[in-house]
Amino acid sequence: MKTWSLKDSAELYQVASWGAGFFGINASGHVQVTPRGPDGPAIDLYDLLPTLQERGLRLPLLVRFSDIVATRVRGLSKAFAKTIADYAYEGRFRGVYPIKVNQQRHLVEEIVKYGAPHRIGLECGSKPELLIALALLDTPGALLVCNGYKDRAYVETALLAQRLGRTPILVIDRYPELDLVVRVSRELGIRPHIGVRARLTTRSVGKWADSSGERSKFGLSAAEMVEAVDRLKAEKMLDCLELMHFHIGSQITAIRAHKDALREACRIFVGLHAMGARPSLLDVGGGLGVDYDGSQTNFHSSMNYTVQEYANDVVSSIQEACDETGVPHPDIITEAGRSMVAHHSVLIFDVLGVSELRIAEAPEPATEDDPRVVQDLYEIWNSLSRKNPLEGWHDLVQLKEEAGTLFALGYLDLRARARVEKLYQAACEKLLRIVRELPQVPEELADLEKTLADTYYGNFSMFQSMPDHWGFKQLFPVMPIHRLEQEPTRRGIIADLTCDSDGKIGEFIDQHDVRKTLELHALNGAPYYIAVFLVGAYQEILGDLHNLFGDTHAVHVRVDDAGKTLIEHVVQGDKVREVLDYVEYDHAELIAKVAETAEAAVERGELPREEAQLLLKRYQASLEETTYLSRE
Ligand SMILES: *Cc1c(COP(=O)(O)O)cnc(C)c1O
Repeated sequence: MKTWSLKDSAELYQVASWGAGFFGINASGHVQVTPRGPDGPAIDLYDLLPTLQERGLRLPLLVRFSDIVATRVRGLSKAFAKTIADYAYEGRFRGVYPIKVNQQRHLVEEIVKYGAPHRIGLECGSKPELLIALALLDTPGALLVCNGYKDRAYVETALLAQRLGRTPILVIDRYPELDLVVRVSRELGIRPHIGVRARLTTRSVGKWADSSGERSKFGLSAAEMVEAVDRLKAEKMLDCLELMHFHIGSQITAIRAHKDALREACRIFVGLHAMGARPSLLDVGGGLGVDYDGSQTNFHSSMNYTVQEYANDVVSSIQEACDETGVPHPDIITEAGRSMVAHHSVLIFDVLGVSELRIAEAPEPATEDDPRVVQDLYEIWNSLSRKNPLEGWHDLVQLKEEAGTLFALGYLDLRARARVEKLYQAACEKLLRIVRELPQVPEELADLEKTLADTYYGNFSMFQSMPDHWGFKQLFPVMPIHRLEQEPTRRGIIADLTCDSDGKIGEFIDQHDVRKTLELHALNGAPYYIAVFLVGAYQEILGDLHNLFGDTHAVHVRVDDAGKTLIEHVVQGDKVREVLDYVEYDHAELIAKVAETAEAAVERGELPREEAQLLLKRYQASLEETTYLSRE
C-alpha cells in the first residue's frame, strides 16, 4: 500500500485547478489562503478558526478575504491595460462593479477603495443600489452606470447627483424611459448623461442566457434605437447620448458567445455614429465567467477562456469595427461582477454527525431454518467476485424484490426482513469494493457509489449560503480544510440542517464529469471542518430563510505587508429573534404566550414551578442565539 501524501489530497480535491492561485494545501495538511496570489503571504484557514472563535464567531462562518477582492479588481484592470497597450488602442478601460452581485457594505467599500487607482466605478440596477452607489463612490472620474427599471424618483436622484460631481449615466433599458429622462432633465435644467441598452439578437449560452435575444426583458430593438436617436436629435440632446450598453447574461462559459455578441454590438455602436450620435463609451456588460470546477471547459460551472483572452477579444473586436468605419475608439466599460468577487469568500461549517450505511464485514451465516430468500442472499454475498459482478448484481436485485413481495403478502416476518436488508447491504458493499478495482465500471453499477455514500450532516443551510447549487445545480469546490495529510477513506454527500430533502450537496466538481460523492475523512471524535469555496458572488443575497436559518456570521480577514493576519470587520449573523421578527412574530408576545401557558400548567399542578422557570429561561435565551447549532 502506497502512503497518502499532501500531493494526493491536492490532486483529489483539484485545488490548483479552481484555486486561481488563492488556495492551496500547506505542510500541516490544512487549506491555506494566499490572498495576494501564490507568492504572497499565506493564511492557514484551519489555524484561523480558534482566533475567530475567541471573538465569539461560531460556525457556520463566512470568511471574506479583502486582499482577494483587491487582487481580482486589479487583475481585471491590468488585463485590459495590457491589451490596450499591446494593441495601441486609443480608448481607456473604465470598469464598474455591479452592486447586485454582492451588496455587503464592507465589500462595496473595499471595491471602491482598491479600485480607485484604476478608476473603478459602480453599476446599480435599482433605487436602493443607486442610493448605495451615491453615498460610497467618491473616486474622481469613476462612472456610475444606472441600469434597471426607473421611475421619476430614480431619474431625479441620479440627475441631481451630477451636482455632487458624480458621473451617473442613465441607461435607457426600455424605450419609455427615454421620455421620462428627457422630461425630468428639462424640468431640473440638468443635461443628462444618457446611455442606451442594445437588445442583441445573438443568442447567448449557459444557464443565464435569457438576458439576450429578441425576447429579452431589457434593451432597445434596432427600430427603437433609431427612434431614440431621432427623438434626441429633435430635442437637441443628441450630444447627451454618451454610452451604448449590452449585457448577454452571467457566467458565459464559451468565449465564442462573447465574440458573437461583440460583433453584433460593435455594428450597432458604429451604426449610432453613422446616424450622427457620438457615444464615446461602450459598455460590454457582465458575463465574464468563473472557473468553479477548474476544468477550463464550456461546462456550466466552468469557462473555456481566461480574463486576458476576454480582454483581448473585447478590445480587438471594438478596435476592428471602429477602424473599419473611421469611428474613434471608445472608452471600454465592463460590468464584470462575478469575476471580481466570487473568489473572495469561503463558507466554513462543522460536521454534526454522519449516518453511515456501513455494517459489519461478514454477515451472520444463513442456516436451514432461515427462509429460502435469506439463504439465497447469503449465498450470493458469499460468491460475489471480480469474475461476476454484473451477474451477482442482477441476482441481488431480483432477490430483494422477491423478498419485498413476500413481506407484503405476509410470508416473511419483520426479523426476516431485517436480515434481508442487512445481507443486501453487505452484498452491495462487497460489490462496490470489487467495482472500485475494475478498470472499467459497468454502466449499471455506476450508481452504486452514490447509493452507498455516507451522509455527513453539515451545520449550514444550502438555501441560505449556496442557493445556486439548489436553483441552478451550479457546482462549487467543497473540501475539508484539515487532515489533508491523511487519506479520506469515506465517500459521502453533505446534508444541510433544513428539513428539505433538496437541502444537500450531492454533486461535486470534477475535471471531466460531475462527481456524485465526495471523499471525506472518517470522524474521529474531534471537530471536522468542511469549506465551500468561491461563494462571493450572488450566493449571499439570493440566500433565503428556509426553515428560518438566517445569515451566518461573517468576518473580513486581511494580511498586512509584513504578512500578519488582521481581522477587520465582524458581521454578526441573524439571531433567532431577528428571523422571527422578519416573519412578523413579536418576540415579546411569544414569550408572554409561553409564560401564560406555563403558568396555567403550574396552576393545574402539571408542571413544577422550577421546570416552568427553566423552560422560560431556555426559551428566552434561544431567541438571542444564532439560528444554527452548536456541536456538543
Ligand atoms: C447582473 C448584471 C451584471 C453582472 O454580471 P456578472 O456576470 O456577474 O459579471 C452586469 N450587468 C448587468 C446589466 C447585469 O444585470
